Amino acid sequence: MAGAGYLDKLNDNQRAAVEFGVGDGISPPLLVIAGAGSGKTSTLAHRVAHLIVKGADPRRILLMTFSRRAATELARRVERITAQAMGTAVAAQALTWAGTFHGIGARILREHALSIGLHPEFSIHDREDSADLMNLCRHGLGFSKTESRFPAKGTCLSIYSRAVNAEAPLADVLRDHYPWCAQWEVELKKLFGSYVSAKQEQNVLDYDDLLLAWAQVMADAGFAAHIGASWDHVLVDEYQDTNRLQARILKALKPDGRGLTVVGDDAQSIYAFRAATVRNILDFPSNFAPPANVITLDRNYRSARPILDAANAVIGLARERFTKNLWTERASDRKPRLVTVNTEADQARYVVDRILEDRETGTRLKDQAVLFRTSSHAAQLEAELTRRNVPYVKFGGLKFLDSAHVKDLLSFLRLARNSRDRVAGFRVLQLIPGVGPKAAGRILDALDLASDPRAAFADVAPPARAGADWAGFVEAMTTPAPWPAALGLARTWYDPHLERIHEDAEARRADLLQLEQIAAGYQSAEAFLTDLTLDPPDATSDLAGPPLKDEDYLILSTIHSAKGQEWKSVYLLNAVDGCIPSDLGTGSTHELEEERRLLYVAMTRAKDQLTLGLPLRFYVQNQGRNGDRHVYAMRTRFIPKDILDRFDARHWSPTQGDSQARPAPGSIDVAASMRQMWG
Ligand code: ATP
Ligand code: MG
Repeated sequence: MAGAGYLDKLNDNQRAAVEFGVGDGISPPLLVIAGAGSGKTSTLAHRVAHLIVKGADPRRILLMTFSRRAATELARRVERITAQAMGTAVAAQALTWAGTFHGIGARILREHALSIGLHPEFSIHDREDSADLMNLCRHGLGFSKTESRFPAKGTCLSIYSRAVNAEAPLADVLRDHYPWCAQWEVELKKLFGSYVSAKQEQNVLDYDDLLLAWAQVMADAGFAAHIGASWDHVLVDEYQDTNRLQARILKALKPDGRGLTVVGDDAQSIYAFRAATVRNILDFPSNFAPPANVITLDRNYRSARPILDAANAVIGLARERFTKNLWTERASDRKPRLVTVNTEADQARYVVDRILEDRETGTRLKDQAVLFRTSSHAAQLEAELTRRNVPYVKFGGLKFLDSAHVKDLLSFLRLARNSRDRVAGFRVLQLIPGVGPKAAGRILDALDLASDPRAAFADVAPPARAGADWAGFVEAMTTPAPWPAALGLARTWYDPHLERIHEDAEARRADLLQLEQIAAGYQSAEAFLTDLTLDPPDATSDLAGPPLKDEDYLILSTIHSAKGQEWKSVYLLNAVDGCIPSDLGTGSTHELEEERRLLYVAMTRAKDQLTLGLPLRFYVQNQGRNGDRHVYAMRTRFIPKDILDRFDARHWSPTQGDSQARPAPGSIDVAASMRQMWG
């Protein structure tokens, strides 16, 4: 039925946020700040739909959030609401500008490349490529040789990235976050200078550049006005996790804030480690004159009361917080379970047992999720799921994208587009038998000088020992082919090399076929490479086939990737000190507070049932500092004894099942845990 009924379900404050300024020209700036599950995203979707119903052109709406998946979901929701309101759906594709800051940045930079001094076919480097380039520069300057204790390539990249995103001087970043590298300030400055020149010479942008370059070109008022005029409305979800560059971009897009709506929750800010700053959301109102309007929401529609009570208790211990505690009308008598188990293997078994039990009684796998801090923590669980034939999808990136054969093929595509991309070049050229690093370097130097790099492949003197393989390579590199046939062409060239290099060529071939299926969904090589680099598709347990569609499957996700989502039943693995907070996160109060919010985000994903796993023995990957080791774990310090009554604490073992007798050890029970260590 058509009509305004689509707004009926909203509560008063939500409705105020949806209708704010709509219909009176372009509305003044608006901030919606509210706790988890209070309907922020839902309100944002309704606001976009409402704008469209009232005549806004969906192509002139820019919608940004933290992941491509979240952006797509938001666009679909808008589509459903407009369908209900107008009787006709505005296709989700009509919202042509829904994505992440980085993705939108890439599009803008490519579209305007020529006018801002970029090569239109610039490559985008992922973190690994960037670290490789950083390493080439490190070697070039001789730092890795003479200074054996010079920071590793990954550390160099993290320092660089932090300085860029926080717009902070290197000395400050070193002092506050990498004190053990502070002695290298002079060398690092030189290294970063060399890294920046290398990127420019090679027509390469890294992940951070997509924001940095975007923010830099927006400093030109004329350009900013031109870009800003592309959209009447700019709406951002999860605003608490934006950094200074992102705030600057928004301000440049809409200097007076008209048409700007941002939505977020300071208690869920979990990206400070990538220089996101909660100041953005707190300072948003005063960024404009007159100040932006602020609407808060206080009712949680997601979680049953015992879950909300426990989550509120956890976040209630936070040092500082703007949003108030939420209330709910969803009564339930099921407290969150806090289950001690002896090992991570037991934890995996316990979780899979419960998940299958609940499936028997009608909770689909899709309505359940298992969350963890980092992807590697799911290893035992994945093994258990595979052993018991439970299909799952793991958020946050297909594993095969990291594998050598996929990288080889993607590098081929990159090199064909941008012959100056040395990281891709070194990788691909050395696949040719007889071509080593020296010959590859010589070829890349020759390509650098060529005015038409693509034709230049044919002109480069073939490496002495490459023989007929060189001709085959040049042909594959220079034959024009439409997309996605170009990928097929690359694969045909690559196949004999795959066969030669890898023993398990068959399995890898299947990955490459899957890659071609993904590629078929894209209009161009650029779009495909950009998406795969910035935000890879989700992994399924069924690597042989296409992503599971209609089947029922379980979601596995890092907490970071679970942002904004909800499930009926949520499991959190490893709710122990050393994991949340991580060893690395306990350096400063700020970092510790971020860890607390991470736990809060995890807990507030659950609607009806929440289970925290607490293995007493816990495997720590210590990122090379102390090596990997097993530690005897204690309950996360964020659930101290005085809020333990919000949980249903119990112990589980494969032989004895559930028992309530043994309390989960916590930071208060140090003595008991120490005894247990030796007992
Ligand atoms: P998060 O902070 O986790 O991102 P959020 O504030 O964005 O959460 P939503 O995801 O928009 O919250 O909403 C949480 C749940 O509450 C969703 O299932 C949504 O459909 C439901 N919901 C929101 N508003 C209402 C309402 N007025 N009536 C009924 N259900 C609602
Ligand atoms: Mg949300």
